[in-house]
Amino acid sequence: MAEFRLEIGSETDCQTCGAAIPLSSATRPGCATQAPHRLTFEEFFIELEQGRMLDARPGGLVIGRPGLDDDIPMYRHFGKGIFEVVGLMQGGEFIVSKSATEKHRA
Ligand SMILES: [Zn+2]
Repeated sequence: MAEFRLEIGSETDCQTCGAAIPLSSATRPGCATQAPHRLTFEEFFIELEQGRMLDARPGGLVIGRPGLDDDIPMYRHFGKGIFEVVGLMQGGEFIVSKSATEKHRA
């Protein structure tokens, strides 16, 4: 029987300068700015399983308050079992799936 093993990384790369950002670091060592919020595979799926996070890939209306104080983070899988925030949304905005975008682009 095959064994399932997930190797979780310990750092991500800065999207600005490319320098490694250890998961334990709150700042980007290369840029001296705040590091993006990151979750490990386990932390991410606990959030998903407990309903505090949704898979938005099917698209749809974002439910939530529209103010700047209530930003809704969007995560992407960085790789190596680490998810990082790549943007913020607000209630009232709309996510369009890849298939709907392709169908209605014109
Ligand atoms: Zn950097």
